[in-house]
Amino acid sequence: MNVGVIGAGWAGLSAAIALHDAGHDVSLYEAGPLAGGRARRVPGSGNAALDNGQHIMLGAYQHTLQLMQRLHREPDRLLLRFGLKLQAASGDFELRCRALPSPWHAVAAVALAKGWHTSEKAALIKAMARLRLRGWKVTPDRPLAQWLDEQHQPAGVVKRFWEPLCLAALNTPLVQASTLMMARVLKDSLDAGRNASDVLIPRTDLSDLWPDHLPAGITLHRHSPIQRIDAASNGYTLNEKHWHDALVVAVPPPNARRLLADLPARPGTERLMQHLEAFSPVAIATLNLMLDEPWTTLSEPMLMLDDQAAPGQLGQWLFNHAVISNARERHPLISIVLSNCLSSALTDRDAASRLIIEQVRRQTSQFGPMPDIAQQLLIIEKRATFAATPGLTRPDNNTPWPGLVLAGDWTNTGYPAVLEGAVMSGQAAARCIG
Ligand SMILES: Cc1cc2nc3c(=O)[nH]c(=O)nc-3n(C[C@H](O)[C@H](O)[C@H](O)COP(=O)(O)OP(=O)(O)OC[C@H]3O[C@@H](n4cnc5c(N)ncnc54)[C@H](O)[C@@H]3O)c2cc1C
Repeated sequence: MNVGVIGAGWAGLSAAIALHDAGHDVSLYEAGPLAGGRARRVPGSGNAALDNGQHIMLGAYQHTLQLMQRLHREPDRLLLRFGLKLQAASGDFELRCRALPSPWHAVAAVALAKGWHTSEKAALIKAMARLRLRGWKVTPDRPLAQWLDEQHQPAGVVKRFWEPLCLAALNTPLVQASTLMMARVLKDSLDAGRNASDVLIPRTDLSDLWPDHLPAGITLHRHSPIQRIDAASNGYTLNEKHWHDALVVAVPPPNARRLLADLPARPGTERLMQHLEAFSPVAIATLNLMLDEPWTTLSEPMLMLDDQAAPGQLGQWLFNHAVISNARERHPLISIVLSNCLSSALTDRDAASRLIIEQVRRQTSQFGPMPDIAQQLLIIEKRATFAATPGLTRPDNNTPWPGLVLAGDWTNTGYPAVLEGAVMSGQAAARCIG
């Protein structure tokens, strides 16, 4: 078949590769200048390429890792891998998975964590054990803050474990976050083999990681926004000129809604449109600081920051690319991540950046002074993820229109908006086409 894929994010790209491998002719249409979608290199950032936002992956991202292998993009070379370690920059907290079989690696991590009282460790182990006993299911789903209250989680455990992990994985505050989606992430990372909880950080830019390395047979049309889909005999026409037997629509929900609105209504259309409207976007900002020299005295790739230490100190995670990169010359870049950030807090970009830099300097003082800053760039992605809330109905890949399927991190994967979900959804969409 001749299949069109709209959107070259990780979902559309993985759909295109799976369809190509199944023997179809595939054309990909991407509105922007390069492949990767929300997980891409910032065009024009040159040799010291910057991404649209700092990303991490987990050992549990099996579909993504297999896809990289399929494209001969070796995960061992292109990703820095280390056992899960939550280490506060200030030095007052550390939790590290141990070299034991799952789930004991995680139990030992909590039992031996530095910075918690025994009662705090016991409360966390008890809550996790209860969740595991119930098959990592919570019915009915409810806001994580409510569930944590029910489980009598102490404030120190919420601050050092639940809140940072919930923001990192769901990009949704505790009071709104779905306990079920959080449980799914915990199940697949902490209860699925010791390596599943490993942290994987790209050592190259996100487009080079694999999206730039599509099989030769796939045609990628860059700068090609699709404005219109028309049902044609035995297929669909895009922008009134490209005809395809089948389509994968792999664009964010509002864009999908606009495109599907032109098609003749069929049973189920109204419901699908309502579900597409129900997603609310949540922002993530990344402050990139290019330093005069690599920060070698900071020997950790990733540290937790305290974002409640003082007003405006919004940084949650610090990434040191001098440790992450495997380039011969160590990359003198640090990236600070601000999940679930309100754009109102960043209206004055310079003032916001100043406060965050001050926060980093103060909270990392145990590592010695940060080298001088040569350049800085604050990237705010307003539509980074959808709010992962209880009761959100996520559409399946199949639609009311034959041969037209959906893909995207927002489809019914069970995961929050993450790379692995995007890849899984693309592959599931390809299977629907056959
Ligand atoms: C700053 C930031 C940090 C993140 N951190 C993490 C992380 O640490 N770990 C993690 O797993 N996930 C993270 N995520 C989430 C992850 O990036 C997304 O889940 C994933 O990239 C979504 O891929 P997608 O293909 O579903 O959607 P998208 O990447 O949004 O792809 C959709 C594509 O469709 C294109 N498009 C839209 N409309 C049209 C049209 N009409 N015609 C043609 N093309 C169109 C868009 O240009 C885009 O390229 C982060 C996201 C951001 C923004």
